[in-house]
Amino acid sequence: DPAPLDRARAVLKQCFGYDSFRAGQQAVIAAVLAGQDSVGIMPTGAGKSLCYQIPAVVLPGLTLVVSPLVSLMGDQVRSLVDAGIRGAYLNSTLTGRQQATVLERASQGAYDVMYIAPERLADPRFAAFAESAPIPLIAIDEAHCVSQWGQDFRPSYLGIGPFIDSLPMRPTVVALTATATSRVQRDIVRLLNLDDPHVTVTGFDRPNLHFAVEKLVPKRKLARVLSFASAHDGESSIIYCSTRKQVEELHDELLQAGIQATRYHAGLPNAERLKNQQAFISDDAPVMVATNAFGMGIDKSNVRAVIHFNLPSSMEAYYQEAGRAGRDGEPASCLLLWSDSDIATCRYFIEQDFENEELTEEEAQTVRASRRHMLDAMLGYCHTADCLRAYILRYFGENGLMGSGNAAEAPAASGGAANAAPLEAGGGA
Ligand code: ADP
Ligand code: MG
Repeated sequence: DPAPLDRARAVLKQCFGYDSFRAGQQAVIAAVLAGQDSVGIMPTGAGKSLCYQIPAVVLPGLTLVVSPLVSLMGDQVRSLVDAGIRGAYLNSTLTGRQQATVLERASQGAYDVMYIAPERLADPRFAAFAESAPIPLIAIDEAHCVSQWGQDFRPSYLGIGPFIDSLPMRPTVVALTATATSRVQRDIVRLLNLDDPHVTVTGFDRPNLHFAVEKLVPKRKLARVLSFASAHDGESSIIYCSTRKQVEELHDELLQAGIQATRYHAGLPNAERLKNQQAFISDDAPVMVATNAFGMGIDKSNVRAVIHFNLPSSMEAYYQEAGRAGRDGEPASCLLLWSDSDIATCRYFIEQDFENEELTEEEAQTVRASRRHMLDAMLGYCHTADCLRAYILRYFGENGLMGSGNAAEAPAASGGAANAAPLEAGGGA
C-alpha cells in the first residue's frame, strides 16, 4: 500500500494532469490524510480546491465541501466529473426531486465529493443522511465567512461547528480561505471547533504586480484612466467602480473616447452580464468596467491592469480584485485612484442596514465595527509612504502564524482590518 502522500501525488497527476504540488498544497493534504484538522490560508488562484479534492479521492467515503458560492457549484462539479471524480452538489438551484435523488445516490456511496451550501446543514433530511453516511472529511471553503471580523460574514457558517460535533464519527476538518487576519484565523479555529489544527499560510506576494496609489479629485479621474488606456492600448484591463451608476457613467465615457469597453454589475439582466463577461474573456472588449460583482471564479490569465476608480472598502477586497491582474505571471499594473468623497461612500455602505442578511443587532454591530477597522486599514494603504507591497504583505501576515498578532489588525493601531461594501452579487439586485 503506497504511502498516502504518494497516492495523493498519483491523483494529482492522473485526475488533474499536474506534475507537482503548488506551495502549500502538499502540507495541507499531508495533514488531512494523517487525520489532522488543517487550516490553509492561500491567495486566490493558489489552488485551494485540490487541498480537499485530492483527499476526497484518496479517502474512502464521502467528502463534504461547504461553500457559499452556490452559483459556482455546478461548474466545479462538472470539472471534477471531467477529471473522472465522482462529484455532486446539493443546493437550491436543484428541484426538490433532484435534491432527493442526489441524497439517495449519496447514501448508496455514489460520490467521493459533495458540495453543499452551509444552510443545508440545518435541513433535517440532510442531517439524517449525514448521521448514517461515512464522512471522513469536511472541507470548509471561504472559511473566513464564519467570522464577524472577516469580509463576508455568513451567520449560517456558525452552524458548521455544531453540525460537525453532532456527527457520530468526527470527520477531519480542513478550512480554506484567501483572506484571514490573525483575528479571523482565531475565529475560524474557535467557531469551527477545529482540533489543534495544522496551519499553512503561503505566498501572498505577487512579484509580477506593480502597485500604485494616486489621490485625485473625482473630476480628474477620467483623464487619468484615459491616459492610462492610451499608454496600454488594446491590453486587457478591469476598472472597478464602487457603484453601478459610476460603472454606467465611466463605461459611456470610455466608449465616447473610442475605447472598446464593456460593463458588468448586478443591475444588468443575466443574459447581458454573461454576454459582456464573454466579450471580455475573449478579448473582443478588452476593457471591463465593473462593480465588485464581477470577477469571482473568473480565470482570465492575460489581464494586464486592474484599476480601482474608487476606494475599495477593505484590503481584502482590494487585493482580491487587484490580484486578477497578471495571473499569467507576466508584469501587470494595479492602480488605485481615490478621493475624499470615496471615503464617504464607503462609510455609507458600512452604516447601512443589513436587510438581506439575518444578523442579530449584536452581530450587525460587530460587523460594522469590523468594517470600520477594515476601511481604516485600506486608508492606511492609501496613505502609506513606504512600500505598498510591504504594507500588503504585512496586512495579510505573510509570516504571521496563528496568534502571532497581525500589525494591521490591531484595532488600536492606525490601521485596522479592511473591507466593507457588501458583495454586490449577494446584495440583491
Ligand atoms: P483557489 O480556490 O485557491 O482560488 P483554485 O483551486 O480554483 O484556486 O485553483 C486555481 C487554478 O489553479 C485551477 O485552474 C487549478 O486547476 C490550478 N491548479 C491547482 N493546483 C495546481 C497545481 N499543483 N499545478 C498546476 N495548476 C494547479
Ligand atoms: Mg477557491
